[in-house]
Amino acid sequence: MTSRGIRDSVKDALIKAGANKEELEALTLDAELLEKIISGKTRRLKDIEEYDVVIVGGGGAGLSAAIEARSNGAHVVLLEKMNNLGGNTLVSMGGVNIPQNDEQKQKNIIDSKESYREDILVGGDNKSNIDQVDILVENALTTYRWLKDFVNVEFKEDKLIHFGGHKVPRASVFKGKYAIELIQKLREKAQDLGVDIITGVECKNLICEDDRITGVNSLFNNREIVFKARYGVVLATGGFSGNVEMRKKYDPSLDERYKTTNVSGVTGQGHEMCEEVDAKFIDMNYIQTFPISNPITGELSHVGGARFDGAILVNKEGNRFVEELERRDVVSEGILNQTSNRAYLIWSKEVESINEGVSANSGEVKRLEKDNLFGKFETIEDACDFFSINYTNLKETINKYNSYVDNKKDDDFNRRGQLISIKEGPYYVQIVAPAVHHTMGGVKINDKNQVLRNDESVIKGLYAAGEIVGGTHGTNRLGGNAITEILVFGKRCGKSIVNNK
Ligand SMILES: Cc1cc2nc3c(=O)[nH]c(=O)nc-3n(C[C@H](O)[C@H](O)[C@H](O)COP(=O)(O)OP(=O)(O)OC[C@H]3O[C@@H](n4cnc5c(N)ncnc54)[C@H](O)[C@@H]3O)c2cc1C
Repeated sequence: MTSRGIRDSVKDALIKAGANKEELEALTLDAELLEKIISGKTRRLKDIEEYDVVIVGGGGAGLSAAIEARSNGAHVVLLEKMNNLGGNTLVSMGGVNIPQNDEQKQKNIIDSKESYREDILVGGDNKSNIDQVDILVENALTTYRWLKDFVNVEFKEDKLIHFGGHKVPRASVFKGKYAIELIQKLREKAQDLGVDIITGVECKNLICEDDRITGVNSLFNNREIVFKARYGVVLATGGFSGNVEMRKKYDPSLDERYKTTNVSGVTGQGHEMCEEVDAKFIDMNYIQTFPISNPITGELSHVGGARFDGAILVNKEGNRFVEELERRDVVSEGILNQTSNRAYLIWSKEVESINEGVSANSGEVKRLEKDNLFGKFETIEDACDFFSINYTNLKETINKYNSYVDNKKDDDFNRRGQLISIKEGPYYVQIVAPAVHHTMGGVKINDKNQVLRNDESVIKGLYAAGEIVGGTHGTNRLGGNAITEILVFGKRCGKSIVNNK
């Protein structure tokens, strides 16, 4: 980002000094390509490139599929349209649900596949595709072992996230920030095995010959390049939260007023490519908002992760209105029903000393402070003055909540998990609102990850994995289940495409 910032300023300065914009942009592209070639990140591409497997999308699903296809002997290329790998996976909170993971064992938390399965089904209002849920649940632990033992991914040893809707804390968390550890290790493993990874390639459409998908047409530095795929193409292009038109087509209420938590590359292009080959789409109207986001930019709040460790949500009137660990759709709806469609997340020293979210996310804190969306206060009264929250009500709400903490039972909303008091300053207050976060719908696949047509016949040579696939989460995905899904199904897809060649 900083390099890009510097480059853009230099470019702007040159244009203002009289340089020709188009020429300059062409030169910049050439220079970027040269830099990538020198650093070994790419090579000069031919007009037609030939591989066994072409994978579109360099997030967690695409990388897992690439590793597994290559491990099973295929000649694989992974194409990513952005200059960096990672997609939404990279910026995720890094929580991945695995029942019976090592961290749960260390904390003596009893969990099981059956309990996990039940949470997924209930969380999605029993609308999930049962076969997909079974695959997810059955393979979660072995995929976690694969990550640790084969891909060398490291996890925070003593950390588990208790995402909303789960009976117990079951999300292991990647070492470091976000899912940088995951993407870095997946990329290293893929490259060690000999997968060709090419960034800056935007795939435009699928090539269909003799009733079979045989490759993709793409644009690389304004050049058209065809990637031929002997075994087939895997689409791992993520969801469509960032595509306002597609969102509105399936849920008109999610229009331009809503920001998104997603990175800019994730815009449903894979879905558009599938539309052109008559793929079947399911559950497209199930679109999830993330309740604890920046009301101005849509950025998912990592600071607001304090909710999982005990922070409470109140409205401008100073009252709680929802169980903080409820499902995302319920919390989002709750917030939208409050004054100004916003809520205030409140916690104090007790929670901060557990999760250290404020100190660990200083960049986000600064962005929030700049827009008066966050504050650290010595007293609750100061916080109320700053944000114009009703002080009398809030004080009463907090006193009542602290008595629930003492009695270990939340009589108002029956909050799950451990209750933590809000007694000792400093106090932290953050304004939050929902932003479009995840699309549960997508293409329909069979148990081999093959994409199906509207008449449910197989589109030969076309596979999909990750958020582009619909069905697994029913109406609502529970936190931490997407990363499990993209890794389990990405890995499975990589093997399947080789087995079905
Ligand atoms: C801020 C945030 C936090 C999250 N936190 C969690 C969490 O903690 N736990 C959890 O389980 N889930 C979380 N999620 C959800 C989860 O991150 C995603 O569902 C998941 O990463 C999707 O993975 P994917 O591989 O399918 O797609 P992505 O990781 O989004 O990757 C798709 C890639 O495809 C590329 N692409 C798209 N179109 C093209 C094209 N035409 N040509 C070439 N490349 C293309 C994109 O640029 C992108 O890099 C979070 C999501 C967000 C946005």
